[in-house]
Amino acid sequence: MSKVDPMGHTREFQGKVMKIAAQPQVIDLPVLILLYVFSSVIIAYLLPSFLSMIMEYGRLPGKFELAVFCTIPAVLMLYLAASLQRSMHDLVQKWNETHFQTRLLMYFTLIILFTVIPIVVITALSLRTVTQFWYSGHTKEALAGAQSLALDAYTLHWEKFEQLIAHNNLEQGESSLPDGISSIQDFQKLNGVWVDIFFSGETTQKLQQPPSNQQDTESRVDAFSIDTLYYTVPTAHDTVRVISYQLGNGFDKSLNLIDSEQNRYQKFDFLMENIQYIVAIYYTIFFLPILFMTFIIAISFTHKIAQPINKLAEVTHIVAEGNFNIHLIEGKTGIAPLIHSFNAIVRELERSKELLSSVNKVSMWQDMANRLAHEIKNPLTPIRLSAERLLRRARNDPDHVLDIVEYSSLAIIQEVDSLIEMLSEFKVLVRPIEPSESGTELLGCIQEIINAYQESYPKIQFDITQVKACVVVVDRRRITQVLTNLIVNAIDAMSGNGMLEIVTNIGTKKDTQFCRLSIHDTGKGISEQDQISIFEPYFTTKETGTGLGLSIVEKIINDHGGSIWVNSVEGIGTTFFIDLPVY
Ligand code: ADP
Repeated sequence: MSKVDPMGHTREFQGKVMKIAAQPQVIDLPVLILLYVFSSVIIAYLLPSFLSMIMEYGRLPGKFELAVFCTIPAVLMLYLAASLQRSMHDLVQKWNETHFQTRLLMYFTLIILFTVIPIVVITALSLRTVTQFWYSGHTKEALAGAQSLALDAYTLHWEKFEQLIAHNNLEQGESSLPDGISSIQDFQKLNGVWVDIFFSGETTQKLQQPPSNQQDTESRVDAFSIDTLYYTVPTAHDTVRVISYQLGNGFDKSLNLIDSEQNRYQKFDFLMENIQYIVAIYYTIFFLPILFMTFIIAISFTHKIAQPINKLAEVTHIVAEGNFNIHLIEGKTGIAPLIHSFNAIVRELERSKELLSSVNKVSMWQDMANRLAHEIKNPLTPIRLSAERLLRRARNDPDHVLDIVEYSSLAIIQEVDSLIEMLSEFKVLVRPIEPSESGTELLGCIQEIINAYQESYPKIQFDITQVKACVVVVDRRRITQVLTNLIVNAIDAMSGNGMLEIVTNIGTKKDTQFCRLSIHDTGKGISEQDQISIFEPYFTTKETGTGLGLSIVEKIINDHGGSIWVNSVEGIGTTFFIDLPVY
C-alpha cells in the first residue's frame, strides 16, 4: 500500500541517484597504511638500539626508556580501543545492519590470530630450547678453569724466572744468556737521561729505558714487550740491569681472550637470566604495535567492505517496496559489477512494472465498465417498470390513466436524475482535471462546509481549531467536493455521534512547500482488508453508497500534484491525510 506512507521511503527515494560508498572514517585507510609503514620503520630503527643496550652493556631498559619505548603501543592501543568501541556501539545500535560487518571482523580477527598464535608459540618454544641449550653447556666452568690455568701458568713462569736469576747470578754480569732468559740490557743515567749501554739477546726485547730504577719485577712494559717478564736490578750508582724472560708466544693474547670471553659470557648470562622479561618487553614494544595496527586496519577494511554491501541491502528493501526509480553509482567500493547488475535488475523490474500496470489498466477499465453497466441497470429497471405500468393502464383503462401518470413520471424523473448524477461523477473519474490557476484558502472553505453540517448533527463535535491559514493550488469547487466527501464519510462512520477533527500543517517535500491536511473521526474505522480497496471506483460498504466518493477525491488530489492516504483502526477511528502543494 504505497499510499499509507507517502513521507516514507517510497517517495523519498523516487527518482533518486544514490551513491554507494563507505562512510569516511576518523582516519582513512590509506592514512592508516601509511601510519603502519611509519611505525614499522620507527620500530626497525629502535630495535637495534634496544638489543645493543641489552647485549653490549648487559642492562635492562630503565623506567624512562620503557616509557619512551611504550609510547607507540600505548597510542595505538588507545586508538584501537576507540575503534572497537565505535564498532561495538554500531553493533548494539544496528544489529541487523552490522551483522555482516561483525562476521567480517570476526573472520579478519581469526586470520590475524591464526598467524599470530603460531608465531608466538613457535618463538616461545624456540626460546625455551635455546635457553635450555645455553644452560646445558659448561661454558662458564670452562672459562673459569681456563682463567685459573692461565694464572697458574703465569705464577709458574715467575717462579722459573726468579730461579733462573738466583742460580745464574745475572745481576753481577754473565757473558752468555742462560736458557730461558731472552735478553739482558744495561742502562746508565747520564745528565738525568737513561742511556742504553749494553744489550745481549733478542733485539725484539730491547727497551728504550728501564721499567724501574730499583730492584723490581715487571711484565708487559710497553706495547712491544708482550709475552715478556722483566726483572730490574741496580748494578752501580745510576746504572740498572734489565733481564727479560719469554712467557711463550701468544701467552698474553690467550690471557686477554679468556678475560674478554668471560666478560661477554657474563652479559649473555644476564640476558638469559632475564630472557622472559626481555621477551615480554620485546613483544610489547615491537610486536604489539604491529599487531594493533593490523587490527585497526582490519576494522577499517571491514567498514570499507561491509558498508557498501549494507547500503546495497538497504536499497534492495526500498526496491522490494516497489520503488524502482533508483539508480546507484559506485564510489570506490570494489563492488562495481554488483552495483551495475543491481541497476540492470531495477531497470528490468521497472519495465515489467510498467507492462503490468498497462495490463492492469485495461482490466481496471473493463471492471469499471462492468460496474457502470451494473449501476446503470439499477435505475433502468424501475424506469422500465413505470413505463410498462403507464402503457398497461393506457391500454386497459384509458379513463384512469391520469391517476398514475404523476406517480410514474416522478419515479422516472428521479431515476433519470440519479443516472445523470452517476454519469457526471463518472466523467470526473475518466477525464483529466485541469490543474487550477488560482488558489483556495482552506480555513474559510472548511468553515463553510462545517457550518452546513454542524446543525444537522448536534451530537458530533466538530473541531477545526488547529486549521491554519493556508492557500492550496486547487480551485474552490474541487476542494469543496473533496472535503465534503471526506466529511460526509466521517459523519456516516460515526452514526451521528463522535468527534471530527481537522488539522492543517505546512511542510516541505523535495524543495516544495505543501499543506498537510488531516481529517480525523472517531467512527467505526476501516478493516485492513477494506483499506486496500476504498479508493477503487464502486467500492462501498454502504447500502445506498455509490463507491465513487473516494475515487473522485483521490483523482482530484492526484491531478493537482498531491497525495492522499489513510490510517484507520477498526473500532477506534479513521484519519485521512492529504498533502497538497501550497499556492
Ligand atoms: P461511499 O461513501 O459511496 O461508500 P466512498 O468511495 O466515499 O463511497 O467510500 C468507500 C468506502 O470507504 C465506504 O463505503 C466506507 O466503507 C469506507 N469509508 C470511507 N470513509 C470512511 C470513514 N471515515 N470511516 C469508515 N469507513 C469509511
